Amino acid sequence: MNNEHSSSRRRTLKQLAGMTALGALNALHAPNTLAAGPKPPRLSIPGVGGKIIRRQDPDYELWRQAMVWHQSKPKRYPDVIVQARNDSDVIAAVKYAAKKRLKIAVRSGGHNSNGSSLRDGGMLIDVSAMSAIRIDAAKQSASVQPGTRALGLVQAARDEGLSFPVPHCPSVGLGGFTMGGGIGWNYPQRGGVSTHSIVGADVVTADGRLRRATPTENPDLYWAIRGAGPGFFGVVTRLDLQLYPLPKAILASSYIFPLAELETVNTTLDAIRTQHDVTRVELITVLMHHPEVPADAPPEQSKICFFTAFAFEDSEELAKRALQPFAQSALASKCLVKMENQPFDFEGLYERYFSLNDPAGRCARYAVDNVLTNQGGKTLQALAAHFRNAPTKDCHVLASFNMQIAAKADSCFSSTADCFVGFYAIWDDEKDDARNYEWIKAALPLMDPFAEGHYVNEVEGRHPDRFRQCFSEVNWNRLQALRRQYDPAGVFHHYLGQT
Ligand SMILES: Cc1cc2nc3c(=O)[nH]c(=O)nc-3n(C[C@H](O)[C@H](O)[C@H](O)COP(=O)(O)OP(=O)(O)OC[C@H]3O[C@@H](n4cnc5c(N)ncnc54)[C@H](O)[C@@H]3O)c2cc1C
Repeated sequence: MNNEHSSSRRRTLKQLAGMTALGALNALHAPNTLAAGPKPPRLSIPGVGGKIIRRQDPDYELWRQAMVWHQSKPKRYPDVIVQARNDSDVIAAVKYAAKKRLKIAVRSGGHNSNGSSLRDGGMLIDVSAMSAIRIDAAKQSASVQPGTRALGLVQAARDEGLSFPVPHCPSVGLGGFTMGGGIGWNYPQRGGVSTHSIVGADVVTADGRLRRATPTENPDLYWAIRGAGPGFFGVVTRLDLQLYPLPKAILASSYIFPLAELETVNTTLDAIRTQHDVTRVELITVLMHHPEVPADAPPEQSKICFFTAFAFEDSEELAKRALQPFAQSALASKCLVKMENQPFDFEGLYERYFSLNDPAGRCARYAVDNVLTNQGGKTLQALAAHFRNAPTKDCHVLASFNMQIAAKADSCFSSTADCFVGFYAIWDDEKDDARNYEWIKAALPLMDPFAEGHYVNEVEGRHPDRFRQCFSEVNWNRLQALRRQYDPAGVFHHYLGQT
């Protein structure tokens, strides 16, 4: 391991440690829900060894707030939070909740933007402590518990010369990420959306049974786990994932333009994609505030279009060749700034592009909505003027092209669109909530005309009809039928806003 890598890893770990502390720090300012007086006895649930926190417990607010990664904590209050440590804890908790008619929500990494694991009333089963990883190098597969974070799998797989299309941010939980679709690093030649790399799962259903879900065992559950995301009707306690050979060379070429030049970026990218085979290259355009320009600078001096092409190949020569069409295009000749053929490993990518210091990873108040589209460039163009008036300097728009998602009969993930466009609001003060949510809301009619659908993991919960639009009608109806079959009494919460 070279020094640069180890120090980069240390920095990432430090950031992660800081992030964990943030939840606790925030909770110190939270009102104590317990009036002065003797402590009530802790609830115990037969068979549950993990910690159990009720609403009347003094540390409840601390735990409740820690369930959601960002700072816009929903004002939703479960009656009881169970910190599951293993499958037996989950089974016992589900049986207890079903008996006591406590509706269940589930949390793995807590990164869902609308805090979907926090619901009013009922039981929240937090599986974040279940984070063991087993790699089978011979089979090129990993068996992970759902609380595993992206960075953990990156490191464990890398040690065996393997990789997984993990999310663009190191702290995201693999439970929610993979089950909702998973638009991750290096997907074009590595299995498409990450949910399609789930090859098996263990799931506790509403009757308290631990079931195996594979293409041949409970194939309907397997189908639902692969894409249902934050409306799944069970607790997944293990995911078996297909891994892929670790790319020997990862190179990135970035080109920065003023926002006013977005059309040049779009037309050049379209031309490159028509004239060259760049299907193996990950293409990301971000509309953002220039990080070194003051927050109050006028948009014409601060808003930029930051385009990066990422090549994941078996040699540096192949990676350079993959990026050549970009270096020979108007992207290179007309941009303000360029950084070409920069070498990375996955941790380096996290550090450079999506660390917790970047707008995309900064832990603040946070909201996002999106479209999946075949017209990514046009969608960005339609959003550009609205983005220009973003309420804060951390707000941004991210378009990830080249998705190449194949429709699969054994997955409820429904979209085959070429491009994900996410519209992100990031801000600090509660007093600015309304302004930022309004800004997102006003973006929807601008981007929706281009939508083939939406990505269920990054839908704004204030517009619950969008969850349905994340699925084809056939898949949505089948998901509802399976919910009725596996959870006839409605033990598990539905998508936010759905009953
Ligand atoms: C900084 C940041 C970066 C991101 N980057 C990416 C990215 O690059 N690509 C991408 O595709 N997405 C990305 N996301 C979105 C991310 O995929 C979703 O937020 C996802 O839901 C996070 O999963 P989680 O386990 O951390 O979240 P949680 O909030 O714990 O889970 C979300 C929901 O999923 C369901 N769920 C989770 N675990 C289980 C389980 N074990 N059993 C049953 N149901 C479960 C529950 O309904 C839960 O409420 C990012 C989000 C953030 C905040």
